[in-house]
Amino acid sequence: MAAATLPLFREDAYRRNCEAEIVAINDRGGIVLDRTIFYATSGGQPGDVGHLVLAGEEVPIGAAVYGEDKAQIVHVPAGSSGMAIAGAPVRAEIDWERRYRHMRMHTGLHLLCSLIPFPVTGGSIGAEESRLDFDISDAGAVDKDDLTERLNALVVADHAVTTRWITDEELAGNPGLVRTMSVKPPSGSGRVRLVAIGDDGAVDLQPCGGTHVRSTGEVGPLAVTRIEKKGRQNRRVRLAFAARP
Ligand SMILES: [Zn+2]
Repeated sequence: MAAATLPLFREDAYRRNCEAEIVAINDRGGIVLDRTIFYATSGGQPGDVGHLVLAGEEVPIGAAVYGEDKAQIVHVPAGSSGMAIAGAPVRAEIDWERRYRHMRMHTGLHLLCSLIPFPVTGGSIGAEESRLDFDISDAGAVDKDDLTERLNALVVADHAVTTRWITDEELAGNPGLVRTMSVKPPSGSGRVRLVAIGDDGAVDLQPCGGTHVRSTGEVGPLAVTRIEKKGRQNRRVRLAFAARP
């Protein structure tokens, strides 16, 4: 089994490229690197696309996913894997425009989550539109225009977004920190990453392994575009970027 991939995006979500080494090619031509800035699909956030520069050639990467043991990140070539062989040095570069939209959207979903005090049952992030599903026992608690207004107030307030690590035991002792029941927080490694918005997480505080912007002002204007009924208690709330006023 090849070594684990160091996920550079976890410490610095703004990094757009890195030098790395190929540690393995899987049986479907997927390229495993020793380190990467490619976010791998998880927690409702799509993996990055981009390319690897390998022996002077660009190999387009159409997807980034975790390997079976979750320790490795597999870069899936959009076409041929070119000259990829274990041990070769590569330069990895992501499609930054797309990733940055995911970071803004993802942070926007944390804000949405902070405004709806019900369990999250699902969600997905896109570059144009995202959604969160809530198990809402009081449907009167969500109104499209009211949510849009409060979301944009949080954006304009430009709250800092920070991360810190806690132990699995600290998380187990604070079950209220886990809002998203369908997406288990990344634990098992002995520590969990907490994402805090506002001073001491006053706006939102929860375990998350995704990529976020540094402050809520970077998210930009948002609009709740639709609230759909999904079953008796579930509500699907759709979020999109809004034009700047
Ligand atoms: Zn997050």
